[in-house]
Amino acid sequence: MTSRFTCLLFCGALFAQSDPPHKLVSRAETSAALLDDTRELCDTIGGRPTGSPACDRAVNWAAKKFRDAGIQKVSVEPFTVPRLWLPGTAEASATAPEKWTLRIAAAPMSPSTKGAMEAQLVDVGDGSPEAFAKAAGNLKGAIALVHSNEMKTFDDLFAEYAKNPGLIESSQKYGLAALLLESTRPRGLLYRHPISLTNDLAPVPTALVSREHAERLARLAQNSEVRVRLSIAKKIGGPYQSRNVIAEIPGLEKPEEIVLLGAHLDSWDLGTGAEDNGINAAMVIDTARAFQQLAVKPRRTIRFALFTGEEQGMLGSEAYVAQHKAELDNHVTAVVFDIGSGHTSGFYLNGREDLRKPVNGTLDAVGGLDATEQVLDAIDGTDNLDFALSGVPNLVALQDPTAYLPDYHAESDTFDRVNAKEAKRNEAIAAVLVWGLADAPERPAKRQSRAEVEKLVTDTKLDEQMKLFGQWDDFKSGKRGFSK
Ligand SMILES: [Zn+2]
Repeated sequence: MTSRFTCLLFCGALFAQSDPPHKLVSRAETSAALLDDTRELCDTIGGRPTGSPACDRAVNWAAKKFRDAGIQKVSVEPFTVPRLWLPGTAEASATAPEKWTLRIAAAPMSPSTKGAMEAQLVDVGDGSPEAFAKAAGNLKGAIALVHSNEMKTFDDLFAEYAKNPGLIESSQKYGLAALLLESTRPRGLLYRHPISLTNDLAPVPTALVSREHAERLARLAQNSEVRVRLSIAKKIGGPYQSRNVIAEIPGLEKPEEIVLLGAHLDSWDLGTGAEDNGINAAMVIDTARAFQQLAVKPRRTIRFALFTGEEQGMLGSEAYVAQHKAELDNHVTAVVFDIGSGHTSGFYLNGREDLRKPVNGTLDAVGGLDATEQVLDAIDGTDNLDFALSGVPNLVALQDPTAYLPDYHAESDTFDRVNAKEAKRNEAIAAVLVWGLADAPERPAKRQSRAEVEKLVTDTKLDEQMKLFGQWDDFKSGKRGFSK
């Protein structure tokens, strides 16, 4: 009995040794490298807005990590970002009827003020066109205070972005001097909320003000004239070069066919970009390291991509897709992670029903991964978009956003927010998924034609999201996605 039991154990161990998915899972669960790298990136490089010296350091750091892991093919690929916007200083104070310093953070794509400016504050409620119209008489040369609801869900966050085009329009229509937007997070928390995602500067200086300060200003404004002093100095410039980091493990049988695992390396600067998206950038590096260390070689090539310019409108992945146009027919699937260390319950199929079976089949090969919730929805807001618009099958990890959202783009997005257990599990899922897609005898899904992409975009209502984010015209003209 003893010997039989020993044999079972021994044979089980032998089986696990020779089985890449199980080897990848057990390494992901036991290795400390994922968290060590995340901590190093966040604590020693810190917040890394695209165009900043910190972002450049992060690019060099990531390329070195891939090389140190023994990966032969590592490259940094430059691309042009149309406009430089870097955080500088932002200061504000209430000067009447009470004096105190306001907690503010400039909104990305806000212009600078000309020195310090002072103006009357006018409460414009929720900032809707109707609310602006009500205050119309007092708005010329004023600073408008726009209220918000607390952000609790992705829908709330989406609604916050959706307000921007209307705010930009009203600030021009009424000749405002500046916009102050109430933070959607309580207890003084500030975050970077881009006022424009089209790389055009907003027409007036725009800043977020802490929820508590916004409410106090609004209460005072009910009975008195409130005046605010504002000074915003940003580093703003024309086109410049940023870089993506690309590494690959060549396939044994079909090296020209590529499964891509990607995440963005850049972040905003108030925090250190741990959940958005340092943990997943580190996960991409550590997955490459795992394949290398375990000498796991699938049939197809696995390409590991760390994009920059994501926070400016997914510019790095847009550039990657344009630069690798000749290879896109051979991009079998692109897999993207961008919701921190939230529990992965499955994947967004981004309108590609044909991916459901291969994804489930691949993940089912390892018991206990439990990432069975594949949803057909197509999402806009991370680095899968240009793959989707080019017909490349693409997946985004469907992760629990509960822990991620309160710290999104905020001062509080730091290493201590990372859920180590979930992050390791996410790496196991990512590794097994890319292994399975890269090693399947048949291609998991085909590349779509432009006509099929156009249908997908309308069927999934991706068009509405793209219109909101100012990407629609570029798709229609062929600048983004398939060229005409
Ligand atoms: Zn992100």
